[in-house]
Amino acid sequence: MDPAIRELFPIFKKNPGFIYLDSAATTHKPDAVISELSHFYREEYATVHRAIYHKSLAATEKYNDTRRTVQRFLNAAQVEEIVFTRGTTDGINLVAASLSASFLPGDEILLSETEHHSNIVPWQMAAQRTGATIRWIPVDDRGVLDLKAFRLLLNEKTKLVAIAHVSNVTGTIHPIREIASIAQKAGAKILVDGAQAAPHLPVDVQHLGVDFYVFSGHKCYGPTGVGALYGKIKWLEEMPPVQGGGDMVDRVDFDKSTYQPPPLKFEAGTPLIAPVIALKPALDLLMQIGLDKVAAWEHELYLCAIDRLKGLSGFKIIGNAPSKGALLTFVVEGVHPLDIATLLDLKQIAIRSGHLCAQTSLRRFGLETAARASFGLYNTLEEAEKFGNVLKSSISLLTEACSASH
Ligand code: PMP
Repeated sequence: MDPAIRELFPIFKKNPGFIYLDSAATTHKPDAVISELSHFYREEYATVHRAIYHKSLAATEKYNDTRRTVQRFLNAAQVEEIVFTRGTTDGINLVAASLSASFLPGDEILLSETEHHSNIVPWQMAAQRTGATIRWIPVDDRGVLDLKAFRLLLNEKTKLVAIAHVSNVTGTIHPIREIASIAQKAGAKILVDGAQAAPHLPVDVQHLGVDFYVFSGHKCYGPTGVGALYGKIKWLEEMPPVQGGGDMVDRVDFDKSTYQPPPLKFEAGTPLIAPVIALKPALDLLMQIGLDKVAAWEHELYLCAIDRLKGLSGFKIIGNAPSKGALLTFVVEGVHPLDIATLLDLKQIAIRSGHLCAQTSLRRFGLETAARASFGLYNTLEEAEKFGNVLKSSISLLTEACSASH
């Protein structure tokens, strides 16, 4: 990656030596995003949609401009298919609440065994409300989805398949186009959790053929509190809104109300004006660099890190699918992931440890906790190398300490 890209991120200038390997949780922000937020609040702030004064019209234009940017980012057919949300979790909850209005007892929802809590709990809540049942699509020991089992699970009661594009535990890039086509042939809709894909690889919702796709702005170098839901327009038109209030209505009478067409139907209340506006420079940056290039760079970082760790006794990578993102979840026999993360932190290396918001996913691999290093476009090969070396020496230290205490 061009070193000039890293220069765009002030956090690294202010914290020399800091190695950030938790981009799967959230990403740092480039100057363009920070200055857009500040500039908007300082000089341009106004509400959107409601007023005819100049500042409000200008803010509305910027807000709509981000919607067009998200449309381009996902290659959606129309801008009306893009709904702003608070993030991936919010988008999945929106679809779960709205779609489940038509679920009947006995209907089925299919989830993979390696979903994030955000793509499990909203469906469990919908199932409890409606009497629908959740069924689990198995993955093999590498983290690859069992397509044969998936086909067998599908039947006339399957209403929806919900699956991550890239797993936040195994890093597997699931074959979404194929999964979508199989699901739809069986009469089911498909929702894709794109939280770990949108910042790391090209996403084309028309090519993938999915019904719904969600992602979070804060994992794409944008502000917190904003994300987007893509939904095929025919479904968004049919689906009921889940929140009522200002902005989403057409006419309100004492006895009933009518709603705006999508996407506004799903955006009740004063929207996330500033975060939406500041999401644009983040997505523009990703598109300017090119998601293919981002994916290739992050893969190189991943390979560099695991190269250092080869042959390390007791070291086990969770997720070895042939098609995998730059995300390294691992455990070391006899060593607690929290101890590893703590030692790395002492060397200014930030990695994640714990259940990774994916308890069922870890349990699939017989684990309760793990450690995870994840890469972003700003990481360097020197950082990946240093991570590998420090991890290696930390593990030696911890295993020696363990054996000394026994
Ligand atoms: N799905 C996956 C696969 C994720 O990795 C995450 C974030 N860790 C989420 C959903 C939830 O994203 P958010 O917290 O931004 O809503």
